[in-house]
Amino acid sequence: MSRRSFIVGGAGLAALLGIGGIAKYAGVSSLLRPPGGQDEKRFIALCLRCQKCREVCPNGCIMPSKTEDGFVNARTPKMNFKLGWCDFCAEAYKGVPQCVKVCPSQALKLPDGATATSIKIGVAVIDKDSCLGWLLKGCRTCVDNCPYDALTLDENNRPVVVENKCNGCGLCEYVCVSLKNASITGRSKDRAIIIKPLN
Ligand code: SF4
Ligand code: SF4
Ligand code: SF4
Repeated sequence: MSRRSFIVGGAGLAALLGIGGIAKYAGVSSLLRPPGGQDEKRFIALCLRCQKCREVCPNGCIMPSKTEDGFVNARTPKMNFKLGWCDFCAEAYKGVPQCVKVCPSQALKLPDGATATSIKIGVAVIDKDSCLGWLLKGCRTCVDNCPYDALTLDENNRPVVVENKCNGCGLCEYVCVSLKNASITGRSKDRAIIIKPLN
């Protein structure tokens, strides 16, 4: 890198930090990682940003993080359940998910004998202000689709997450119809059920 481009790059970075704040761009905020990447410190230290996990995911639910996700996170993989959901690559879950299998640095690593019910990517959280079930419109799409019985209905037919059964697979977020009913749910940009990181 020439001296000039170094100075220009440095000025650009300084401007970036000035605009968005050091914490945001240097940040180590937890993102929703593919299976086996839930220890954030370990993951950040080992991930090569090689994109192999994203390329191999048969459900297309991994995307590269952006600078806005924190400077150290840039190009690391994160889950996007608007694109697809994680079935742990299992037609009949065969033990090692594709993303874990191809990861060259073991940034994605699961304990021996891990199964789709023992892995936890994150946990589902319902926004009661935009969930059609909670707005008493009778929706139960997420409950009917959850493969792990991690969603149930309360006494008023409103969806509730059973946290100890939820593995963060993202199917509920993927199928949530709240945004298609924006006239009822208001201006929310997210679906009414989203998966959040564990920490
Ligand atoms: S386990 Fe399979 S479906 Fe899930 S994120 Fe990894 S590659 Fe994609
Ligand atoms: S395959 Fe592993 S090292 Fe490569 S980007 Fe994915 S998590 Fe990082
Ligand atoms: S509640 Fe959602 S994220 Fe949790 S297991 Fe069921 S479908 Fe998957």
